[in-house]
Amino acid sequence: MSVLVVGSIGLDTVKTPVEEHADLLGGSASYAAVSASFFTGVNLIGIVGTDFPTRHVEYLKSRRIDIEGLQIVPGKTFRWSGEYEWDLNTRRTRSVELNVFEHFSPHLPKAGAAIPYVLLANIAPALQSHVLDQMSQPRFIIADTMDLWIDIAREPLLALLARVDLLILNDGEARQLTGETSLVKAGGRIRKLGPKYVAIKKGEHGCLLFGESAFFSCGAYPLEDIHDPTGAGDTFAGGLAGYLASLNQSAVTFEQLRKAVVYGSVMASFNVESFSLERLRTLTQQDIEDRYRMFKLMSHFEELR
Ligand code: AMP
Repeated sequence: MSVLVVGSIGLDTVKTPVEEHADLLGGSASYAAVSASFFTGVNLIGIVGTDFPTRHVEYLKSRRIDIEGLQIVPGKTFRWSGEYEWDLNTRRTRSVELNVFEHFSPHLPKAGAAIPYVLLANIAPALQSHVLDQMSQPRFIIADTMDLWIDIAREPLLALLARVDLLILNDGEARQLTGETSLVKAGGRIRKLGPKYVAIKKGEHGCLLFGESAFFSCGAYPLEDIHDPTGAGDTFAGGLAGYLASLNQSAVTFEQLRKAVVYGSVMASFNVESFSLERLRTLTQQDIEDRYRMFKLMSHFEELR
C-alpha cells in the first residue's frame, strides 16, 4: 500500500541560538515523504529547480520513494530561512523565495491518481485541492496547513476542509482558524468545517486528537537535546499517514488513528534530534519500535489500590 504526498521541497537555512546551517534539504513534503517511507510506499508530488542537488534526489530514491511526480524544471528551487529563539519553540521566518514554486501546478501520474491514502502536506490550499481534483477515489485524506494560509487564503482553505478526513495543525493555528481560546472548543469547531478528525499539535507538549465523541491525548517524548525543530510537524504527519496506509484497512477507525498519532509523535521526536533530515538517515525500524514502546510505557498507568 502507498501514500501520496504532496507539498514543498526546498533548501532551508536554519539558525538556532547555537548553530546555523545553510542549503539543507527541507520542505514539508521532503520531511513527510521520508517519514512515511519507514512504514509504506510513497509517491511524491512536488517541484524543484535544476539547482536542486542530485544527492537529494538520490536520497529520496534510496528511501524507495516514487518520484515520477517530481517536476524538475529550469529555475531555482524553493528556499526558506528561519531562526529559533532560546526556547527552540518560537520561530521567526527570515526569508522565503518561492522561485519555481510560483508557477507550480501539481500533476499526478496515472498511478498516483489511484492511491487511496493522501497526505496534503503544507502548501497553498488551492494547490492541495488541485491534487484532490485529480484523484479517482481517495479513501482517507489528510491535510496539514499553516498560519500563513489561515491568514491570506482562508476561503480556499475552508473549501479544502470540506473535503478532508483529518486536519493536522498546531495549537496557535487552531486558535487562529476558529477564534477559540480553548483547544477543545477549537477541535470541535474545526470538525464542523468538514474534517471527521482533527489533530492539534502542541509542540513539546504533545498532541490532541478529536473525533466524533472521541478524544485522545498523546504526550511528547521527553528529549534532553533538541537541535532543530524544523519539520517536526511534517515528520509527524508523514509517520501518521504512513502507518495508516500500512494497515490498508477498508475504513480508518479511531483506535487506528490513536496509534498513528503515537507513531507520528515518535517520528517527530527523532527528527528534532538533528538538523534537516539527518537523524532520519540513520534511523532503523528497531529505533522506531523501541521508542513506540517507550511512549506506551510512559502513558500507561494503573489505579493505586
Ligand atoms: P515545520 O517546521 O513543520 O513548520 O516545516 C518546516 C518546513 O516547511 C521547512 O522545511 C520549509 O522549507 C517549509 N516551508 C516554510 N514555509 C513554507 C510555505 N509557505 N509553504 C510550504 N512550505 C513551507
